[in-house]
Amino acid sequence: MKVEVNHDVCEGHGKCEMAAPEVFELRDDDLSYVLVDEVAPALKEKVDRAIRLCPRAAIRWVEGV
Ligand code: SF4
Repeated sequence: MKVEVNHDVCEGHGKCEMAAPEVFELRDDDLSYVLVDEVAPALKEKVDRAIRLCPRAAIRWVEGV
């Protein structure tokens, strides 16, 4: 599965990176970037946690790609 960050609403608090550093990286522009093309099944739970923790609801799963 793929995950994406909506840069229009991301405020760079980095909670996603704390929850799943293998998947999200906060860069100098204070935006979070997705590091992987496909989220490995073993990391799905961490990404779900990142989605829950994101104060801006900027992260979402991308279905059916
Ligand atoms: S937790 Fe949400 S608002 Fe914060 S950096 Fe990650 S995607 Fe952006």
